[in-house]
Amino acid sequence: MEKYIKIILDSYYGYWNYLVNEMFYPSWTNYFWWLLGLSVGVWLLEIFFPWRKKQAIFRKDFWLDGFYMFFNYFLFSLIAYNAISNVAVEAFNDFLGIFGVENLVALQVESWPRWGQFLLLFLVADFIQWNVHRLLHRVPALWEFHKVHHSVEEMGFAAHLRFHWMETIIYKTAQYIPLAMIGFGLEDFFIVHIFATAIGHLNHANLRITYGPLKYILNNPIMHLWHHVKALPKDRKYGVNYGITLSLWDYLFGTDYIPHEGRDEALGFDGMEAFPKTFWTQVSYPFVKQKNKDRFNTPQVVDDLRKATIKVKK
Ligand SMILES: [Zn+2]
Ligand SMILES: [Zn+2]
Repeated sequence: MEKYIKIILDSYYGYWNYLVNEMFYPSWTNYFWWLLGLSVGVWLLEIFFPWRKKQAIFRKDFWLDGFYMFFNYFLFSLIAYNAISNVAVEAFNDFLGIFGVENLVALQVESWPRWGQFLLLFLVADFIQWNVHRLLHRVPALWEFHKVHHSVEEMGFAAHLRFHWMETIIYKTAQYIPLAMIGFGLEDFFIVHIFATAIGHLNHANLRITYGPLKYILNNPIMHLWHHVKALPKDRKYGVNYGITLSLWDYLFGTDYIPHEGRDEALGFDGMEAFPKTFWTQVSYPFVKQKNKDRFNTPQVVDDLRKATIKVKK
């Protein structure tokens, strides 16, 4: 137990120092300044080459999404994720130790060339993400968390990181075991992470880019806009275009859908009017919702009231 408490304290201390260092000492391997630089870069592209010309530069929820971006990229790790994941990894290793398993590595990639390691990590991580993303849409309890991301009404770069912190836990947990078996952690590769951030920002940007023939490999703003469209085709009621960085998986497994460019399609989901509007109410919503199922579901409340009135009349 003492060991775990020490891990928790070290995690907080370590991450706090890391965050302060990141913010005050810019360098080429610094996540904080890369995120800031990519955001300003993509935002400038949106300002100079907008796809939806009428969309404001400070679009709807610009600052809310900006806060989500900083929260999900940095603050959540400080508040909880870093300590939780360090404890979980230690507990998991202790658990394996009971069965005499020292480590999970099944495929030794250290002897591979660097580019081969990059490529493998990137492909495996992205394919897991694509599958997890499908589950977020399919499993009702997970969809409650994923709604935060789909409550975006006007797309812009920062919408990329507007999501419930629970998604971080779900994605990272799903990725942990397979990646540990190949012998690396997701954080090992700075370039992969920065590349994924850049593509994610562009996917949500107010830009008309498809990367030409590369669109069958790379996700892009037009394809991802259709992922956010409110009116889904009848035979695809769970969703379309689940790709995160790569569009490849959607084309391979037939979940791709781009009927036309869709520049002005309405975004969101049915019943969105009743969805909370602020950071705190949005992140607490799935928990409140689980406990008190219909509180936010206005049509249901109205329906209940109607039924109750009928009963009283009788
Ligand atoms: Zn989604
Ligand atoms: Zn999105």
